[in-house]
Amino acid sequence: MEETHIIYAAHTGDYNYRYVGKTSRTLKYRVSVHRSNARKRRTKMPVHAWLRKHHLRVQWDVLEACTPETLDSRECFWIATLREQGHDLLNCTEGGEGMGGWQHSEAFKAARRGAGNPMYGRKRDDFRANRAEGRIGMHVRWHVNRGLDNPSCVYCPKS
Ligand SMILES: [Zn+2]
Repeated sequence: MEETHIIYAAHTGDYNYRYVGKTSRTLKYRVSVHRSNARKRRTKMPVHAWLRKHHLRVQWDVLEACTPETLDSRECFWIATLREQGHDLLNCTEGGEGMGGWQHSEAFKAARRGAGNPMYGRKRDDFRANRAEGRIGMHVRWHVNRGLDNPSCVYCPKS
């Protein structure tokens, strides 16, 4: 049995994550839906344009296995945490909403572009592969893939 209720994220091999999502089903199933939507150009989601640009060849990692109760809040946690750490996410929301809730108000988008965005005014070069790859890559490889939580890891769920 594959795990369900997953927080997942995609990157092109450098652990600079570009998209975080959640699914109540398996990662394999959710990825197949993303790929199909990207191929059919059925959505306007930036992540699907990004997938097409990379010919659907990106790496999908499980960031955390959740329960139905924690799925939404952990999605918010991951989007906020990765953004804060310099990952240039294509997500259109802050997470936590139901399926299909990826659009939000123009006011919110404007706020995110401007002063409300913690990344505002900071150069993208301040962050970048090294830092991101080092820590999140370690978390995925050593904690998620082996099912071990490390209390000193910022990415591991704190229970
Ligand atoms: Zn960890």
